[in-house]
Amino acid sequence: MIIDSHTHLFPHGAVADPREYALSRKETFWGALMVPESGRSLQGWVSPEEMLHAMDESGIERTVLMGWYWEHAATCVEQNRWYAEMLAREPGRWHAFASIQPLDRVSAMEELRYAVDHGFKGIGEIHPAVQGFLLRDPAWIEVAEFASEHGLMINLHVTEPVGRPYQPKAGTEYEDIQWLVEQFPDLKIILAHWGGLVLFHELNPYVRKLFKNVFYDTAASPLLYDPGVFNLAVEAVGPEKLLYGSDYPLMLYPRLEKTPGFSRFIDEIREVVPDTRVLSLILGGNARRLFS
Ligand SMILES: [Zn+2]
Repeated sequence: MIIDSHTHLFPHGAVADPREYALSRKETFWGALMVPESGRSLQGWVSPEEMLHAMDESGIERTVLMGWYWEHAATCVEQNRWYAEMLAREPGRWHAFASIQPLDRVSAMEELRYAVDHGFKGIGEIHPAVQGFLLRDPAWIEVAEFASEHGLMINLHVTEPVGRPYQPKAGTEYEDIQWLVEQFPDLKIILAHWGGLVLFHELNPYVRKLFKNVFYDTAASPLLYDPGVFNLAVEAVGPEKLLYGSDYPLMLYPRLEKTPGFSRFIDEIREVVPDTRVLSLILGGNARRLFS
């Protein structure tokens, strides 16, 4: 059973005309990422039906619809309503995470309650540098407290500290992640994109113990790292903390693919991870335990 722990499905208006959507919602970062002024965007665009079809073709039982780090509360609301509609339409195929902008306190609290009432599993992706706050800010701490009390997980976008330059790129405060985990040791936190490889710091015994409820997803891995990262990560933190996630409909193999798909990445994982127990944990076993 395969569960993709990190996908995005943008509202209909965003798919139809991303440039107009970004302008009208003043979502500057998203706009620059999705429809760059120069160069080619790696983003693919799909409807719910196309995504379900692609899931069926690749043998994916469920995907987690990850929210976006919208800069404005109104866009978070729009995204959350869209995902609630998806959950109602195909409850067996999707889990959802809510988009939250902590700086608008009233709206953030309303959306957190909405997320709980509508069966969302967590909140995220959260990207403090883009959304204009720090993980130590009172506004965010209130969100984390709510998540902790109500059993919502948190997915944090983590940017790799060194690597290929691309635009737009916003960094991650790694020390703040440790601080957050220290404040909320029982909160389940998923660090996206292999946590920017911070998982290798679990070789430090203090970090390993502290990060007992921290998980790592593999979103966008083919764009970031050599496939060897899978076995090294298994060796560093064990297979139980790793969640297959693609970042679909992002184009993970831009030189080989013209349309987004799940299969190529899954085939690559199958190729590099020979141990069937480890493979089944990464591709779905861990996600099933975490999200059900
Ligand atoms: Zn991300």
